[in-house]
Amino acid sequence: MTNIEFVYFDLDDTLLDHTHAEEKALESLCEDSAAHFGDSAFPLVLSTYQKINPTVWHKYSLGEYTKEQAKVGRFEQLLEACFPEGLSRAKALAESYLARYADFWQPIDGAFEAFTSTAASLPVGILTNGFSEQQRAKLKKFPHLEHVSSAIVISEEVGYLKPNIKLFEHAASKVNIQNSSILYVGDSFRSDVEGGVGAGWHVAWYSDQETDLPNVWSFTDWNAFTETIEGIVHRP
Ligand SMILES: [Mg+2]
Repeated sequence: MTNIEFVYFDLDDTLLDHTHAEEKALESLCEDSAAHFGDSAFPLVLSTYQKINPTVWHKYSLGEYTKEQAKVGRFEQLLEACFPEGLSRAKALAESYLARYADFWQPIDGAFEAFTSTAASLPVGILTNGFSEQQRAKLKKFPHLEHVSSAIVISEEVGYLKPNIKLFEHAASKVNIQNSSILYVGDSFRSDVEGGVGAGWHVAWYSDQETDLPNVWSFTDWNAFTETIEGIVHRP
């Protein structure tokens, strides 16, 4: 990995703690009005949502669901599972969830510091799946991320979602760097590791799982990540 010229970072659960915001937003919804989910307690609502949402996003990434079907459909499925009598409120609930979700965005410990120190050595960017308005709002809340970035790539604005290689190729051509000289930093095996490898990028996988895939290394410690980047940049 001697020829890295650009580092793209994933946003959710890599730089920003999406999982925390998702849990707190659902908890807030449950606490606000018990009528939303009938007698279903928060742990059941959360575990049900966490089963439904990845499948919805998978279908959205394959083009099987529209954005609206993804955004509202996950709450239709959640209500069907937890409180079918409330099904007519799925759309309102979906909007309310997103508003609450935004209240709980916060950085992953150590990630912003690593992002900033990487940016001192190499040009960086952000490559993220997600609804454009949410991802833009996250960047607005943490303006340093966009300020330091040379490129922001949001799947919905391009028309392909990770792990579609076309999204990675779009991101590479946007910064005019060849695929084999880009490092991607992300937490998802399917979206980030498989997508990045498929595009011919190097991948730093933010995970406690091991991998022997070529051009992929995993890490959980952002200080170790920063040291690896410094090793690449300052290698004689
Ligand atoms: Mg992620």
